[in-house]
Amino acid sequence: MTAADSSPSAASTPRLRAALNTFPPYVPGKPPRQIEGLRPYKLSSNENFLPPLPEVLEAMVEHAKDPANYPDDSALALRRALAERLDVSLDELVVTTGASELLVALTQITSDATTEAIYPWPSFEMYPQTTGLAGAERIEVPLTAEGRHDLEAMAEAITERTGLIILCSPNNPTGPALRDDEVRDFLDRVPAHVLVALDEAYWEFATVPDRARGLGLVRDYPNLVLLRTFSKAHGLAGLRVGYAVAHPPVIEGLLKAVIPFGVTDLSQAAALESLRHWDAVLDRAQQIAEARDAFAKALRAQGWDVPEAQANFVWLPLGEASAAFEDACVEQAVAVRNLGEGVRISIGEPEALERVLQIAKAFRAEHFA
Ligand SMILES: *Cc1c(COP(=O)(O)O)cnc(C)c1O
Repeated sequence: MTAADSSPSAASTPRLRAALNTFPPYVPGKPPRQIEGLRPYKLSSNENFLPPLPEVLEAMVEHAKDPANYPDDSALALRRALAERLDVSLDELVVTTGASELLVALTQITSDATTEAIYPWPSFEMYPQTTGLAGAERIEVPLTAEGRHDLEAMAEAITERTGLIILCSPNNPTGPALRDDEVRDFLDRVPAHVLVALDEAYWEFATVPDRARGLGLVRDYPNLVLLRTFSKAHGLAGLRVGYAVAHPPVIEGLLKAVIPFGVTDLSQAAALESLRHWDAVLDRAQQIAEARDAFAKALRAQGWDVPEAQANFVWLPLGEASAAFEDACVEQAVAVRNLGEGVRISIGEPEALERVLQIAKAFRAEHFA
């Protein structure tokens, strides 16, 4: 031991990897403030505000009876149902603890300190976290002024060191969906040995007809992997179930990186039951999409510059006024997500959106008059 090692501060601070200093921690959406006489609304985590499907709740109760045993590690019943729904084969699917675990696993199988990871920014906050943790150099390609991926700049950013590229459609937090033809043009420019992840956490809410269709794309591009989740449209964020669709070699790689027995029996059963009610899930996503369109339209009518909204949230590019807008919402018992460059508002109950519209109107009058 050297003298420095034995000093009290060195002794009380374990040496952690330097890579930890290169990215911020994940910050979850806040809960709303409790204010007397005002119903609180949490519009900060893109959760599904509709009540759970009763059949899914029943399946959970049924599968809560056997906590002593490990779940089926291969999630076979759920993968079978997914394979049938999506028209893919079992070896093209892996089920994980949310799409979050997939992002970690994907980074582990592609990235280390010798590689670069390319992703749009602003986008999902886990991208800097997982790629940064792997020690990869993070190439954050700014979105266009419309909050869209700059696929031209992303293609130009590819080098020999590129290990992973992430696309997010619809993009969290700005909202626009990628178009199918632009993704094909992009993928045609990506070398076949570079893995591209298409994060489709919100695909069920997207309504523009020419949106990117991951399932068709993954058939045509063996270096593409789709990330999907039961957290958003299925309304099962608390149960932690996600899945990837990719060609078998990619799935084999992911299987080596995921945590064994991560998805509980109860979660697998709930996801399976939710898949059985696929039409109801898609109907509800459609209902949320309609509320989103009406909300975005009302904000635009107030004069706000709202980018194309294709998921279950709307983005207000407030820049420096973001914190003040968040505070105005907090005062009214509404939690929104302030991401520094703007504020993301999840689609919630009609009363919640009505309250936000009133806040937004008063805010404009005060700050932008
Ligand atoms: C919510 C979200 C995920 C993953 O959520 P899980 O709950 O881990 O499945 C992935 N990507 C994006 C863009 C998200 O918004």
